[in-house]
Amino acid sequence: MMKIAVIGSNMIDLVSYITRMPTKGETLEAPDFKMGCGGKGANQAIAASRLGADVLMLTRVGNDIFADNTIANFQANGISTDYVLRTNASSGVAPIFVDPLSHNSIIIVKGANSYLSASDIQSAAEDIKKCQLIVLQLEIPTETVYAAVQFGKEHNIPVLLNPAPAQPDLILDKVKSCEFIVPNETELSLLTGMPVETEDEIRNAAMTLRDAGVKNVIVTMGQRGVLWLSEKTQQYFPPLNVNAKDTTGAGDAFIGCFASMYCKSKDIAHSIEIANHYAADSVTRLGTQTSYLNKEDFLQQYP
Ligand code: ADP
Repeated sequence: MMKIAVIGSNMIDLVSYITRMPTKGETLEAPDFKMGCGGKGANQAIAASRLGADVLMLTRVGNDIFADNTIANFQANGISTDYVLRTNASSGVAPIFVDPLSHNSIIIVKGANSYLSASDIQSAAEDIKKCQLIVLQLEIPTETVYAAVQFGKEHNIPVLLNPAPAQPDLILDKVKSCEFIVPNETELSLLTGMPVETEDEIRNAAMTLRDAGVKNVIVTMGQRGVLWLSEKTQQYFPPLNVNAKDTTGAGDAFIGCFASMYCKSKDIAHSIEIANHYAADSVTRLGTQTSYLNKEDFLQQYP
């Protein structure tokens, strides 16, 4: 079975549905509340696992009920929790406020995610070495991301970096050995310092990353589709025409699916095409992980 190591974050989303933003000092009643599992690392791991990958999740949770919830969620999704490490801190949480027009205000408390370290990678080294792909995002300390990229290089394991959320102090030189960098337009712009308004500008910025040494640059462009640039090819994948209801977590759906498909087939174009479908399908339903189909249901829609 293809094995993927996701080294990244987990969060608990605490979503209050509000009628309006409270003003300073005001106490406001909200009509509804939902709690959900999230965090970019966890989302990508769950998507990959639902599509049949064997996922090793290296992450840190706190010492609280949110941690118990996150661990139970990994287990329910068939992900081993051997490397879901307890930390004497709060779990990562994201209080989110959604108004009637679906505008979001989000606060991220990284909590235990801030403690995921290079030595945690070493403690899981023997099992990470058995993986065919390492998947990274930027909700953990940047030094840990660099250490994971280096680990992949030393052990000849391809690394996929999703440089999200956009991080101004990420040093391109330290991540250019990645086999895949998968940014959205905003992240691409921050990584290259280049404009990304037009398709030409996006292509030029992606070329800059590729020319810096990144083997494959895959730019997800929301409802504008996906662009893939490698040494040899340049390919555009048009968006699917869907009735979008909630695009949160679409990027994570794309990456989890791509990782799973790539490990199985090693066919990049084919994996992008399927991930484009999987992510488009996820935006037709509300929520993040709740919008990710499992393999059987996805195969019914996309045989
Ligand atoms: P992020 O969530 O990281 O900003 P994107 O918005 O680029 O990621 O979305 C990731 C992928 O999800 C897109 O490349 C596309 O495949 C799919 N997607 C997102 N929004 C839509 C949409 N409105 N219609 C069709 N596909 C979409």
